[in-house]
Amino acid sequence: MGYLLPKSKLNTFLELLMHGSSFIAPVRRKKDDVVVFEELEGKTDLTRLDFTTNPQFTAKKFFMPAYEPLFTYNMKNQKLTDKKITARQRILFGLRLCDLNAVKIQDQLFINPQFTDDHYQAARENIFLVGWYCNTPPSKFCFCESMNLTHYYDLMLRDLPGKKDIYIDVGSPKGEILMRKAMKLKLKEHHEHVPKIRTPKKLKTHDIRKYFDHPKWQKTTESKCLSCQRCTTMCPTCMCFDIYDKTQTDLEHGTRERTWDSCHSKQFTRVAGDHYFRPDRTARFKHRIYHKIVYYPEIFGQVPMCTGCGRCIEQCPTQIDFVELINEMEDGK
Ligand code: SF4
Ligand code: SF4
Repeated sequence: MGYLLPKSKLNTFLELLMHGSSFIAPVRRKKDDVVVFEELEGKTDLTRLDFTTNPQFTAKKFFMPAYEPLFTYNMKNQKLTDKKITARQRILFGLRLCDLNAVKIQDQLFINPQFTDDHYQAARENIFLVGWYCNTPPSKFCFCESMNLTHYYDLMLRDLPGKKDIYIDVGSPKGEILMRKAMKLKLKEHHEHVPKIRTPKKLKTHDIRKYFDHPKWQKTTESKCLSCQRCTTMCPTCMCFDIYDKTQTDLEHGTRERTWDSCHSKQFTRVAGDHYFRPDRTARFKHRIYHKIVYYPEIFGQVPMCTGCGRCIEQCPTQIDFVELINEMEDGK
């Protein structure tokens, strides 16, 4: 089920969606010419929309901020007070299918019957996902075709090549609710298949357990990985965090906080007795890749935890390309 939106009315459609909600979209930042997800101040900001590339930073901070206070404590009376969760209604517009599938993975991890993260859940329930379909992959590093992506959105907009319309695919009941905002446009109902995205770059296999001891891992990462953690910061599915207590000088009151962390950090695997589970860079690099491609689907029985967005390759300062590395192993090079 969907609608046809004349391309000439895209901005009017977005203005109607923006009404009464916070609206976050990919815009080119003036100060450094980088495309990022940013909250638009008003409809004049629509002129800053940019679909030429996948935003450099993902939208994950809108679900789980890089820094977040969880609760305060009072040690004297042994009382915990939850931080009030105030989640505004937000429309996240312009996410590509890779980033939408990243939200699906985060949802699976943070909103499940066994463990639900209240902070994540409150933010997520108030977010509408409006995707932007890739007729052409935005970067030569994209390899989503190999990552079994599914349709996971409230609405998906597809600029129909060679036609005057944008096809709006409704992917959920929340999408229908959102479409009511645009009722006065009287859009024509229409249905068409949203095709699979094709990418020139491909990951040749997910079956990489057999390569665990392959010497290429060490050869590449010992000489090139800086443990800088840029890859995990940029990755839309990386969600490791650290928890710490910030106690006030009275030594009675304090706040428990969480911040993003990274499995590429040596400190991340430090445990009591000063033991490090993954002391070397190769072990940490491999852990990231095996977690994404092997361990996660083994636990959740579904798709990998990597959506093929290519950011960790494009943004790596030494351009370590784990897809090429695995492909070379598969080719026996
Ligand atoms: S961005 Fe590259 S160099 Fe930095 S930790 Fe990740 S793989 Fe290593
Ligand atoms: S591992 Fe790399 S390619 Fe995969 S989702 Fe994360 S940043 Fe994107």
